[in-house]
Amino acid sequence: MGRPGFHCITFGCQMNVNDSQWVERALTARGFEPRPMEEADVILVNTCSVREKPEQKVHSTLGRISLANPSAVVGVAGCVAQQLGGELARRHPQVRLIAGSDGIASVPDAFVRLLEEPELRLSFLDFTDSFPDRDPCLTPGSAQPETPVAFVNIMQGCDNFCAYCIVPYTRGPRKSRSAASVLEECRAWVARGAGDITLLGQNVNAFGRDRYGDGTSFPDLLRMLAGIPGLRRIRFVSAHPRDLSEETISLFAELPQLCPRLHLPLQSGSTSMLQKMGRGYTMERYLSVVQALRQARPDIALSTDLIVGFPSETEQEFQDTLAAVDSCGFMSSFSFCYSDRPGTRASGMPFKIPRDIQLERLSRLQTLQNERTEAWLRSRVGLETDVLLESPSHKQDGANLWQGRDPWGDPVNVLLPDGQGRPGQFVDVRVRLAKKHSLMAVPR
Ligand code: SF4
Repeated sequence: MGRPGFHCITFGCQMNVNDSQWVERALTARGFEPRPMEEADVILVNTCSVREKPEQKVHSTLGRISLANPSAVVGVAGCVAQQLGGELARRHPQVRLIAGSDGIASVPDAFVRLLEEPELRLSFLDFTDSFPDRDPCLTPGSAQPETPVAFVNIMQGCDNFCAYCIVPYTRGPRKSRSAASVLEECRAWVARGAGDITLLGQNVNAFGRDRYGDGTSFPDLLRMLAGIPGLRRIRFVSAHPRDLSEETISLFAELPQLCPRLHLPLQSGSTSMLQKMGRGYTMERYLSVVQALRQARPDIALSTDLIVGFPSETEQEFQDTLAAVDSCGFMSSFSFCYSDRPGTRASGMPFKIPRDIQLERLSRLQTLQNERTEAWLRSRVGLETDVLLESPSHKQDGANLWQGRDPWGDPVNVLLPDGQGRPGQFVDVRVRLAKKHSLMAVPR
């Protein structure tokens, strides 16, 4: 008999992508191999409920699987699994594994058991008492794709309860990972060729400030990481504007490894909206953080998240968001129309904004942001910088066009002579051309 096959379907944020990639490595280490959905023995659907219509998406995906591969063992993990629990297995009998946010660590062994015991069903929905640590499966010999860019979870959950957000209910209370465990995983990634590591968590600036932390603060953790030989770029996401300390801001001046790019979710440019959202800061505070960041690192680029049409948002309050895009000079932003999430405070708020007004505001916001993003990319032309090569995209006139990223996270294409370039290599370049969403560069 051949090796069993797995297939993962992932919705949502980088944390979910990271979780799914870990499940893939852990299954590979247990003798599984990747297969198309139709041929897999086990299928994981890793879900997200932050954006719109998450439940419908999961139900339609499970319907698709039951038609394409009715004999596979199916597991559902992540936020929607946490929310719906056993209802998923009742509606879709093929689902034999349900794992909430803290249950992901149990998924690989659970699939092994489920293949051996056809009558078994398993459910891991309890929140754990500490960060659900797991073997990163990066030890020599465990097959996994080479990647120059790595993502490392440093915490799980959130205690902020922003009025619109479901994460504290689906991912549970904030739990920090131990600094030793974070460092060990980062060293393992660097030994595997990663030169660019992004630390992940719902609110990384609060790292260590919960009863599960080991006393290491977030700035301490950044300093420790900067001491890893070979790690040239460090990033982190998401940063909460309220919790971004002066000490962390000063590290942008102190640590050359800390990339000059920060994703700092604003959500609204109106202080009255921010108060209703329960964000814990004013527009004034946000602007003072931006100013301090620019003082520490004048070339820093900022990106953000924005919500339009939050309950009771007036045209003037929306205009404040447009003004904030200008005054903060965001290089990019993710923007969404507000929609209710079950059980959140905002879902019970009056004065919901009609969908057509939300969409019209979103369109104005995205038009403005697209102009700012294009202007940002044009401002890069002529710049000398370095690019971390990720993968070759295609051949062009006997040369290879490589895809990579600069320290600001911009996608950069670099033309290198045939035979030159490898994933994980840093190449010094000069930017020659700005396209709509990326840059073109040549080696220096
Ligand atoms: S900080 Fe607010 S928006 Fe972010 S995960 Fe926590 S509750 Fe959600």
